[in-house]
Amino acid sequence: MRVWAVANQKGGVGKTTTAVALAGLLADQGQRVLVVDLDPHGSMTSYFGHDPDSLTSSVFNLFQHQGQVPDGLAEALLLATSHERISLMPSSTSLATLERQSASQGGFGLVLSRALAQLWDRFDFVLIDSPPLLGVSMINALAACEQLVIPVQTEFLALKGLERMVHTLNMVNRSRKQALPFTIVPTLFDRRTQASVSTLRTLRLDYGNHLWQAFIPIDTKLRDASLAGVVPSQLDASARGVLAYRALLRYLLAQSLSGKVAVA
Ligand code: ADP
Ligand code: MG
Repeated sequence: MRVWAVANQKGGVGKTTTAVALAGLLADQGQRVLVVDLDPHGSMTSYFGHDPDSLTSSVFNLFQHQGQVPDGLAEALLLATSHERISLMPSSTSLATLERQSASQGGFGLVLSRALAQLWDRFDFVLIDSPPLLGVSMINALAACEQLVIPVQTEFLALKGLERMVHTLNMVNRSRKQALPFTIVPTLFDRRTQASVSTLRTLRLDYGNHLWQAFIPIDTKLRDASLAGVVPSQLDASARGVLAYRALLRYLLAQSLSGKVAVA
């Protein structure tokens, strides 16, 4: 089972879209995929038609046992999605209380890893969608994954958010045996705007070897897919945005295979 997380300490940069699009393409290829929503806003949960305000069971339940995960709990949380090979571990708004409750307690950083360990034979891939804030959820996502995808919107203010994210990563890396490999993915690219073009240029100069050299273009089909509650490839497999995500997936898979990414 391979675990990838999608994170950036900034909202609206395409995190949820990236996690769902990659999950969809992997599932299309026959892989059994789990998507985990760790964002208290529950965008990914809503995406697949479940209401994060009314769900009584969610990832939050994993955190209610002093850092341990009772047998069978992870499996009990799984929900179906529009894609037969994608299961969802949903978020709920109660997840927001987690940051307050457990901030002062140690031992909560590996809860998600422990939950995923219970599911190792049910899934080939896990994609984790993280919240745009550094807290217990983000720490759990970074601890559970072997490769991190950082979507960065190609606009001026995005670079600050990226600096913060890389700083967080360096902090987390101090407590890992091996540094967590990461790939920066330029998103919402619009070649007609100066902001997109110059941000992409800056990214190439500053983050060269951690940067995926292509980009995800603005494509309204990606938004349409979220409104329809289906993964983008189910709506239109040849949409520009889907083709870009397919190229990204090929790159990420090659990165793991080349041994640049430790496989669990
Ligand atoms: P985040 O999870 O980082 O907050 P989202 O993935 O939810 O970001 O994206 C924010 C909004 O932008 C959503 O409405 C989404 O449908 C839309 N969006 C994301 N990527 C694209 C894209 N490449 N083209 C057009 N719309 C996009
Ligand atoms: Mg999101």
